Amino acid sequence: MEKRKVTIAKGDGIGPEIMDATLEILEHAGARIEPEFIDIGEKVYLAGQSSGIPDEAWESLRRTRIFFKGPITTPQGGGYKSLNVTIRKTLGLYANVRPNVSYAPFVKTKHPDMDLVIIRENEEDLYAGIEHQQTNEVVQCLKLITRPGSEKIVRYAFEYARKNNRKKVTCFTKDNIMKLTDGLFHKVFREIAEEYPDIETEHWIIDIGMAKIADSPQDFDVIVMPNLYGDIASDVAAQITGSVGLAGSANIGDNFAMFEAIHGSAPDIAGKGIANPSGLLNGAIMMLVHIGQPDVASRLHNAWLKTLEDGIFTGDIAKGNSSVGTSEFAKAVISRL
Ligand code: NAD
Repeated sequence: MEKRKVTIAKGDGIGPEIMDATLEILEHAGARIEPEFIDIGEKVYLAGQSSGIPDEAWESLRRTRIFFKGPITTPQGGGYKSLNVTIRKTLGLYANVRPNVSYAPFVKTKHPDMDLVIIRENEEDLYAGIEHQQTNEVVQCLKLITRPGSEKIVRYAFEYARKNNRKKVTCFTKDNIMKLTDGLFHKVFREIAEEYPDIETEHWIIDIGMAKIADSPQDFDVIVMPNLYGDIASDVAAQITGSVGLAGSANIGDNFAMFEAIHGSAPDIAGKGIANPSGLLNGAIMMLVHIGQPDVASRLHNAWLKTLEDGIFTGDIAKGNSSVGTSEFAKAVISRL
């Protein structure tokens, strides 16, 4: 069967370790993909390419339209602009889908019944990149919310719920304070909800919404929210399932799609061979479903679940049990395929 070309960047920090482990698992699982490797991020920036993304990387992305990406380091408080934000905006990846599922009793968590999906708007809000210095003492960042952008992401969330047999869509905003911007997002949510009478809906102000995720995540199903809230909420939700290292993420646009782990480049453990490749592997599973290889996706998912069931854990999810390194974990998954 013909292989699907996929652009792959190993990323920074733990990126190469977890990408190599994941690609080895994919190969053994029979994933029909043909990688085109590109270099982006810190290494490229330090070599003198100021955007961090060389032309040949864009050419590959335009050719394959599918991007499988390791985490990228973004300089804090200065330096080049986030490549993640640039890529999402340039490729029009408006929907960020982040499932957070508990794997109890195998992975320890206080919330064994959690199974929620965060749908995060991925191009607008405070991440639109409109940030400037007003005076020496005043800086400003503009929050951009548009009706078309809000309609697109809210409709995506309802369609996702229908396709995936989910019963409820919740919206988080802070429209008591940001009455116009978050107000518009919430208004669009109420309007579009009327088109989906089969799906239950609710809205929470983000602060109490997050408190409810921390306390009773099992009460949520699909949650849609503006960009910044979604970024924060999905790390919290992943950590509640046991580790930020577990969750995968799909970034979906009309013409392109990108798959990754939700976590970052974890510089504190980079090079130690102990990172959990599961988040990236779950991103790969979402990619395989997207490119029409659900057979490989479910084989992989089952082997990964069996690995957890058999008590084989990386350090982040071991919680008192013994743990294995990245490549040993990958080998354990491969032996269960
Ligand atoms: P992080 O997610 O990299 O790490 C947070 C904590 O979780 C660390 O203690 C780390 O060791 C641990 N952790 C993360 N992934 C793990 C894994 N797979 N296995 C075991 N432990 C894991 O967050 P950070 O430290 O705030 O960010 C580091 C860098 O990553 C920053 O430059 C940030 O901008 C970038 N980042 C990139 C992405 C992306 O590429 N999509 C996402 C988030 C952060």
